[in-house]
Amino acid sequence: MYARNSPFIHINRLNNDAIFSHHPSGLEDLLMHLAQRMHEPRVNPLNENLVSSLPEITITDLSKIPAGKNECVICLTKYELNEKAILLPCTDMFHTECIKNWFKNQNSCPLCKFKINERTINGLN
Ligand SMILES: [Zn+2]
Ligand SMILES: [Zn+2]
Repeated sequence: MYARNSPFIHINRLNNDAIFSHHPSGLEDLLMHLAQRMHEPRVNPLNENLVSSLPEITITDLSKIPAGKNECVICLTKYELNEKAILLPCTDMFHTECIKNWFKNQNSCPLCKFKINERTINGLN
């Protein structure tokens, strides 16, 4: 009886050894994975209704754009006459298409991180 059980005890111990030698690296992988996830930018889209309630302007006079704000920081292109742009409550401006794409993932100004929400949009009026 004892002799029969011994091999099982031995096998169990081998299995435990196998688990212990493999587990730490598996745990490390998991921790690495979690750490990487924490560094990924969080996706926080802005509600589409709010996006469409933002004031859109057509650029009709380039000289009225304040110095240093004459390019869209999303596509890094200077504004051209008759382009459409959206003015955020923080007074930063971006191409309509650029900022709409941005708001699919983020709910704050790409430049100053100002949070865009119902309250801050209504603060414009
Ligand atoms: Zn742009
Ligand atoms: Zn801003």
